Amino acid sequence: MTAEIIDGRKIALELKAVLRRELDALRTESEGSAGYGLAVVQVGDEYSSSTYWDRLARLGDELGMPCRRVRLPDTARQSDVLAELLRLNCDPDVAGIVVLRPLPAHIAESEVFCALEPVKDIEAVHPENAGLLALGTPRYVPSTAAATFHVLDEWLVASGTEIREFYHSSLIVVVGRSNNVGKPAVSMAYARQASVESVDHWASRGGQLGWHTRRADVLIVAAGVPGLIRAEHVSEHAVVLDIGHNPVTGSDGEIRFVGDVEFLDVLDRARALTPVPGGIGPVTDVWLMRNTILAACNLRDLGRAQLEMS
Ligand code: NAP
Repeated sequence: MTAEIIDGRKIALELKAVLRRELDALRTESEGSAGYGLAVVQVGDEYSSSTYWDRLARLGDELGMPCRRVRLPDTARQSDVLAELLRLNCDPDVAGIVVLRPLPAHIAESEVFCALEPVKDIEAVHPENAGLLALGTPRYVPSTAAATFHVLDEWLVASGTEIREFYHSSLIVVVGRSNNVGKPAVSMAYARQASVESVDHWASRGGQLGWHTRRADVLIVAAGVPGLIRAEHVSEHAVVLDIGHNPVTGSDGEIRFVGDVEFLDVLDRARALTPVPGGIGPVTDVWLMRNTILAACNLRDLGRAQLEMS
């Protein structure tokens, strides 16, 4: 059996049309003020972070969404990063703030995330937002997890599947449990009332990875290990969503990105599969912009509430 390839670029295109309408409404309401900008904070010059910024800058241009890169050298001190965040927290032109990972080892990630203004924390890394997400009442759903489930929902609708019934009777296995990708994906799966299993590198070390993943109706992979999932890890009825986005240098010296799934191998086995590139990534980028618009609306409502109280 050959799996259906799920086209993330097509889904992203449809989402962009929705976003344009939301942006138009916001521009009209904000009467020309630029209170819906995105600020992306990068400490150091890690390759994947820089290419991610390039993609966001292009998308921002395309949508007419102000995007600003705030760059600090990898020698920046913790206090420099915190001072920059304080400035962005107070900047009325900035609605959403994203701090790119990985941060240099000498920077305490948790302290940086705690310094974000929660209403501007569109990737839900501040403990308040991460807690709301875990409780099933998210202020923001981190863009990668949101994109993954949007892609899955769209595929289910297109394939004529009854969504609620599908989730209620499905086992979703998530490989990788980072705070920014794996755990939010688990929260999203809970929110859809699916059965959920979460596995990390200990399952691989113990030789149990395939035992878990072969039982999945939906297999979500976010481990950061190129080619981790092969045909032997996947059942024939599985929908496989590959979040992995790993830079590898080819024999020609060029860097390209590959997923965590051995694409051609799994293509011959699964029911449906997202490619890398062109799967979850493009939808994630658009979702980040969407969260920024949501933050702009939240800030505006907050402003109104504060005015009403004063
Ligand atoms: P991360 O912080 O390094 O976390 C990786 C997770 O995978 C950890 O929980 C780790 O387990 C687990 N893991 C590592 N090796 C494993 C193995 N052999 N078997 C099972 N689990 C294993 O990475 P991340 O930020 O979550 O990113 C994961 C991948 O997603 C990367 O390729 C990244 O580039 C990609 N990504 C893509 C998007 C997108 O939009 N497409 C967005 C963000 C990230 P332990 O905790 O036990 O070490």
